[in-house]
Amino acid sequence: MKEMIETILYDKLEDNKVRCNICRHRCMIPYGKYGYCRTRMNRDGILYTLIFGRVSSFNANPIEMKPLFHFFPGSLCFSMGTSGCNFRCPGCQNWEISRMIVEESGAGTEKITPEESIALAVRYKCQGISWTFNEPAIWLEYTVDGAKRAKEKGLYTAYVTNGFITPEGLDIISPYLDAFRVDIKGFSEETYKKISSVSAWSGVLDSAKRAKHNHNMHVECVTNVTHGINDDENELLEMAQWIRDELGPDTPWHITRFYPHLDFSNIPITPISNLERIRRRGLDAGLRYVYLGNVPGHPGENTYCYTCKEMLIERKGYLVMKFNIKNGRCPECDTEIAGIFSAFETKS
Ligand code: SF4
Repeated sequence: MKEMIETILYDKLEDNKVRCNICRHRCMIPYGKYGYCRTRMNRDGILYTLIFGRVSSFNANPIEMKPLFHFFPGSLCFSMGTSGCNFRCPGCQNWEISRMIVEESGAGTEKITPEESIALAVRYKCQGISWTFNEPAIWLEYTVDGAKRAKEKGLYTAYVTNGFITPEGLDIISPYLDAFRVDIKGFSEETYKKISSVSAWSGVLDSAKRAKHNHNMHVECVTNVTHGINDDENELLEMAQWIRDELGPDTPWHITRFYPHLDFSNIPITPISNLERIRRRGLDAGLRYVYLGNVPGHPGENTYCYTCKEMLIERKGYLVMKFNIKNGRCPECDTEIAGIFSAFETKS
C-alpha cells in the first residue's frame, strides 16, 4: 500500500492551493499545508490523505456499543478507527486518537488494507463493520473501499459519525453504507461551538436528513448530555421535535451520560435524574424510542412497544438479554417495530 494517496473530492485552485470537499469545513489548503483535520496535505498542488489504511484501533464488539439499537441487535460488529478529527470537542472521550498528531510515517497506527479489514471482520465472526472511534468521513477513501468489499461479503456497514460530511461525500459512500449513527450534539450553533468548537449545527442536521431521505439509510441519533454545555431542556425538547418531524418518530434517540474528559474534566457526571427527565420529554414529544446510555442496567436501555408498553428487547449494558420481537412486530399487540432485526429473526 502506498504511504500517501491522492484524495478524492478536491478542487485545484490558483497558486497551488487546493480546496478539500470531504467535510463541511471545505478547507482551502495552501501549498505545503494541512487541512483542519491534519490528515490531508497539499504537496505540489495535489491533495494527499495521510491516513489511508492507517488504523489506530480495531476490535469486534456488540453493535449496541455504537450505540445502534434497532439495527441487527445482538450482532458482533468489527469496529475500526484511524487518527485525527475534523472537530475539536473539549470533552472528547476518544481524544487519544482524535487528537493524535498524524505523521507521514504512520507512527502510532497499524497498516491494514481495506481487503485485510474485511478478512479480519470475517475471521472475528462479525456480521458487519463500522468505522468509528473518530470521525470516519476524514477517512472517506478508505471507508468507501472497505464498504464496497464488505457489501460483496454480505456484511452490513455503519458510520458512527459527527455528521459533518459534505453532501458530495455522502453521495459517494451512500451506495455501500447501511447505517448512519449520527451525533446531534446540540440544537443551536452556539451550543455546537461550545461542545465541538465548530459551527456545525445546520450541516449536521442536513446530513442526517440526507442519510435518511436521500439515501435510505438506517439513522439513529445520539446526544451526550453535558452539564452546563448542552443540557438546556428547552433546546433538547426542540431537538426531539426536530427528530420527530424531520427524521420520523421511529428514529431512535440515545441520550447518553457524560463522563469528564480532557478540557471538560471539571464538569460533573450527568445526573441520571436529568437524563430521565429529558427521556420523558422526548417520549412525550412523540418519539417512540428514546434510550438512556452509559447507565448500565437502567430500564431506559430497553426497547418497549410504543403502543402496549410490552418490553421487546431487554439490555444490560451492551448485552441483549432478551429479544421479543416477532417478524418485526410486537408479539402482544402486533404493532410494527421499526428497525432491521434479521440477526435474530433468521435464528428463530
Ligand atoms: S476532511 Fe474536512 S477538515 Fe479535513 S481537510 Fe478536508 S475539509 Fe478540511
